Amino acid sequence: MADQSNFLLNLSVLYRNTQKYFDRALVPYDIGSGQLIFLLCINENEGITMQELTALSEVDKGTTTKSIQRLIDQGYVQSRTDEKDHRVKRLYTTENASAIMPAVYEFRNQMRTILAADVDFPAFEQALSAVTDNARNRLFAESDLQSLKIGGLQKMTLLDYPGKAACTIFLSGCNFKCPFCHNRDLVFIPERYEYFDVNDIMEYLEKRKGILDGVAISGGEPLLQENLHTLIERIRELGYQVKLDTNGAYPKRLKEVVEKGLVDYVAMDIKNSPDKYARTLGMNPESFSLDPIRESVEFLKSSQIEHEFRTTVVRELHTAEDLLEIGRWLGENETYYLQQYVDSGNVIQPGYSAYTAAEMEDLRNQVAALVPNVKLRGVKEG
Ligand code: SF4
Repeated sequence: MADQSNFLLNLSVLYRNTQKYFDRALVPYDIGSGQLIFLLCINENEGITMQELTALSEVDKGTTTKSIQRLIDQGYVQSRTDEKDHRVKRLYTTENASAIMPAVYEFRNQMRTILAADVDFPAFEQALSAVTDNARNRLFAESDLQSLKIGGLQKMTLLDYPGKAACTIFLSGCNFKCPFCHNRDLVFIPERYEYFDVNDIMEYLEKRKGILDGVAISGGEPLLQENLHTLIERIRELGYQVKLDTNGAYPKRLKEVVEKGLVDYVAMDIKNSPDKYARTLGMNPESFSLDPIRESVEFLKSSQIEHEFRTTVVRELHTAEDLLEIGRWLGENETYYLQQYVDSGNVIQPGYSAYTAAEMEDLRNQVAALVPNVKLRGVKEG
């Protein structure tokens, strides 16, 4: 056979031979190689829970449970209820296990000595450990990252992330179709749309370290994409702060990214007063539920995360009473932006118009009675 690097074949042969070695060595103790890894983990982490064991070994839950049950039946492991939390079961080795562990470690050392013949084994172990870390942390993350649909990148903005020099990444796809939406192509994705390559984006962010200090993640609706967290984690590794724009339709995902500390700032759209919400989104009022939006609002109001609410104010869709209704909904402690509508030329439904600067100021003054920290954004004269 040609002398070539065959990582997968080598890995498989190494795995099978080490398993075979232990299966044979452990016959007197009636333990299989599949159980060995669990016995070693419990012996070195007395009191470990089944969940912790599953996470540590990365073996699926069903296989872990079966192997542990067998070790319990054989009298090598005991499961005991946690004294403080009766829902938690902890695993301990028994005296039977203590009696055989020296032999088990000896088999392991013998195997290591045999495998290390004519090999710089410490260097191999170091490399294997690094490769394993990459498998654990990067293998699936890479494909998750590639699955993201990135529709645009604004390389530099001083407006999208309050107080920061940032860039904005636009994720494609939205669950709503607000007629005044200025990102039509992110909602009605054109045929043969060419998404951005995530590697190009990461390369750009790598180069801008120290020049930009934040990344705004916008859309579309970014939380629609299941693997968004992978992108954010990678961006954070580069040292950037992250702002998330959301329409609030996915409260569970919103809570998840906030509670995991993945975002530093959240901007949530409030499209209109509750009665007009569905129509403003381009949705059927009969089948639309405001509950997820309300849940996101309540979550942000009660959380410590820095956040803002914002409404893009459109003359044909919003009255002063609508904005006052929103003000009552948000309450006096929130930061609320009224953004002047602009026809970008790529709107879903052309024909809408903006209030004038003076009118926007008047609307702001009215809302300020309910939300003192209400501000205008993007207001142009004329
Ligand atoms: S404005 Fe936002 S929520 Fe509405 S369709 Fe456009 S991207 Fe979606």
